[in-house]
Parts: sequence; C-alpha cells; structure tokens
Amino acid sequence: MEFWEKELETLPQDKLTRLQLDRLNLVIQSAVRSPYYRSLFSGNGDLESLRDIREVNGIPFTTKQHLRDHFPYGFLTLPRKELIRLHSSSGTTGNPTVVFHNRHDIDSWSNLMARSLFCAGVRDTDVFQNIVGYGLFTGGLGFQYGIERLGALSIPAGAGNSARQIKLMRDYGTTVIHAIPSYLARLYDVFLAEGVNPRTDTELRMLIIGAEPHTEAQRQRIQEMFGVKAYNSFGLSEMNGPGVAFECEYQNGLHIWEDAFLVEIVDPETLEPVPDGEYGELVMTTLDRQAMPLIRYRTRDITRILPGICPCGRTHRRIDRITGRTDDMFIIKGCNIYPMQVEGILLRVAEVGSDYVIRLETIDDQDEMIVEVEVKKDWFRGDLLFLDQLQKRLTHMIRDEVLVTPRVKLVEPGSIPKGEGKAVRVFDNRQN
Ligand code: ADP
Ligand code: ZN
Repeated sequence: MEFWEKELETLPQDKLTRLQLDRLNLVIQSAVRSPYYRSLFSGNGDLESLRDIREVNGIPFTTKQHLRDHFPYGFLTLPRKELIRLHSSSGTTGNPTVVFHNRHDIDSWSNLMARSLFCAGVRDTDVFQNIVGYGLFTGGLGFQYGIERLGALSIPAGAGNSARQIKLMRDYGTTVIHAIPSYLARLYDVFLAEGVNPRTDTELRMLIIGAEPHTEAQRQRIQEMFGVKAYNSFGLSEMNGPGVAFECEYQNGLHIWEDAFLVEIVDPETLEPVPDGEYGELVMTTLDRQAMPLIRYRTRDITRILPGICPCGRTHRRIDRITGRTDDMFIIKGCNIYPMQVEGILLRVAEVGSDYVIRLETIDDQDEMIVEVEVKKDWFRGDLLFLDQLQKRLTHMIRDEVLVTPRVKLVEPGSIPKGEGKAVRVFDNRQN
C-alpha cells in the first residue's frame, strides 16, 4: 500500500487523538487573538480530552451567520500583512463569507489536497484536467495547488465550454478529470453529439467528483458513461475548500483528515452528539490553520461516521456521502424531504435522463410537489402509452420513498435549464 504521508495517514487512533488534543489546545489559545473568539472565551487552561470541547466548557458552535455578522475581519488572528490569499462564497443573500490564509495555511491545504488525490489513486504521471471555476471558488485553486504539489501535469481548464474540454482532453491525453457530477452528465452528452467515445477515444482512467450532493445512483451512472471509477471529494470553503475528506481506492466512504480537522456529528435540533453510525450534522474545528481558525463550525451537512477499519490502512475515520444540507430539506404536506431522496429513486430508472428539478407550487390552495424529469432521447420518442406508464411508475416510486404523491412531469432531454455552477434541484414557489 502506498501513501502520501504514511506516518500521519496510518497513525494509530490513540496517537491521532493525542495529536488532535495538542493541536486543539493550540487552536483555542490562538483563536482568542481574533476579535470574535476573544469576546467568547479567554483561552486560558488546556482541555484535558477532546470530549471537553462542549458548550458546557464555554466553547460554543460557530455558524455561517457568525461569519457574516463579523465580516470581513472579525475572525482574523493575524495582521493583514501576513495574509496571502482569500476565498469567499457568492453571498447572494447578505454578506458573503470569507476565509483568509497565510503562507502556512496555503501550504497545509496544498498538502492535504495532494494527500487526498494520492489517496484516490492520482499519481505524478497523470494528466489532470480541472474542470471547475477558478477564482474565488475554492475548487479551482484548491485542486490546482494539490495537483502541482503531487507533481501531476495540471490543465487548469476552468468550467464550461464542453467542446473545448473534449478537445483539451484529446490534445493532451488527459487521464484524470475533476468536475461536479451534474456537469459530467452534460459533458457526456456533448461527447455523444461530437461522435467521440470517452471510453475508447480518450486516455481517461479516473474521475473525481464533488462539491455538490449526489447519490450513489448518480455516481454509478457517471462511472458507466465514462467507463472509469469516480471518486468522491468533499470540502467546504470554511474548511479551506476541497481536501477535507476523500475516498480511497475502496470507495467505501470518505476519509476525513483528522490531523487537520476535529470532527463532531451532532443532532441538528438538540445539538447533542450522536453515536457513531448515526446521521447528524457535521461540525468541524480546524486544527492546522493559522490566519483564521474556526471552532466547532456547523457545516449544515448531514452525514455519519462509518464504523469499522478501512482495508487501505488509513486510520482516519470515514464519513458517509453527504445526504444533503439541513437547509436543502423542504417540508411539504407535513413530510420532511431531501432532494437526494428523490434523486435516489429517479436515477435508478433506466429511462430517466440526466436531469431533474423539483418545483414546489401552490395550486388551488394546495401545496404540490412537481417533479420535472428529463427522459432519455430514445424513450422520449416512444409511444404515449409507454410514457404514461413511466409517469405512473415514477409517481408511485417517489410516493413510496417520501410519502407525498408528486406530480411527475416527463420532459425532453436537455430541456431543464442549467447554470455553470452547482445544480439547483429545488425551486420553492409556494405562496407564503
Ligand atoms: P457554497 O456554500 O456556496 O456551496 P462551498 O463551495 O463552500 O460553497 O460549498 C460547500 C458545500 O458543498 C458543502 O458544505 C456541501 O454542502 C457541498 N459539498 C461539497 N462537496 C460535496 C460532496 N462531495 N458531496 C456532497 N456535498 C458536497
Ligand atoms: Zn481507505
């Protein structure tokens, strides 16, 4: 078995816990240099165990709202002169959230990214095409620095323009692609339209997918389209960006890098810890970030710790794929529904195409869930009786899963509009 940083990646659990505690105490001491954390605690006195990191000991959660309220400099522990980069989210609602990095932070993040890529099986002999937005979005530069640290040949392609992406792949013999899953399904359609077969006409040997929620069914589809494995990459800008948790060759959950992040899974309502194996909200503390440490940050992402040891030999625990964000969940007719539950049903059905969208509408004073589903070309041309049966079948399958009867609308492939970024799956147009 090969590793990027063998000693750290295979550190026995007790030593890893010790390392985390030492780092956590340093983080708490340095966090009080920021105006925000200084207003909350003194940083005096070390915690004796990781379990002491609780509200009862005066260490509260940090939320996106706190970041917004103290925008832009309230969480900084260093003078501006020390900073070398910032990344920020779009901030369509209120202040954006911003994270600042000093040289150490960028170095540490690059290393985590190189480690993640190596863990999934990328090597310095690869040609790596990074098909995500560069700029303030962390997926561009985050991957870029990791690819360079690893020593693979990087193609900083950026997002969009599928015909050009295919040309780049063929000109330079791309072996690895990183892209968001909803985009790969579209890229595949362009391959077909151009008469290029990604399995036989390219050198592609693996994919890395992440940055947005997707189901195992979606992953399977993408793997079948391209004829290679697709490894799941998880991160969020508040925790640098990508390089937080990554799948290894076994594709059995994502190793979360516990030397750099302290992980808690809590019940999103009571905020009490849940036992390993149970779903809850992921809460994270940075353990190796200097300019802007974050303590007990509530990610809003729902996942669970997977029990057991991974055969790859890495000791860092694994999280399950993210099933959704607490704020993705919608309530209709008294039922709590995550878009991924609907996706899990749809993408298992062979006739269903690559896109879908959920619209919540008020019709005749009733709230309705309308599920618009693209049907694959060959089937969409099919006879009306067949489409009618497919529509009924999907309606029943979704109802059995989410307990609400949807109005399923079958639409032509390519008719659901898509932006360049992450897919938006739910539109809530309900009155009040
Ligand atoms: P934004 O909040 O604007 O989407 P980020 O780029 O920081 O900005 O997005 C991070 C979020 O994206 C995560 O909190 C999570 O909800 C989602 N995400 C990232 N990677 C994955 C993944 N592999 N699977 C599911 N969701 C993911
Ligand atoms: Zn593993």
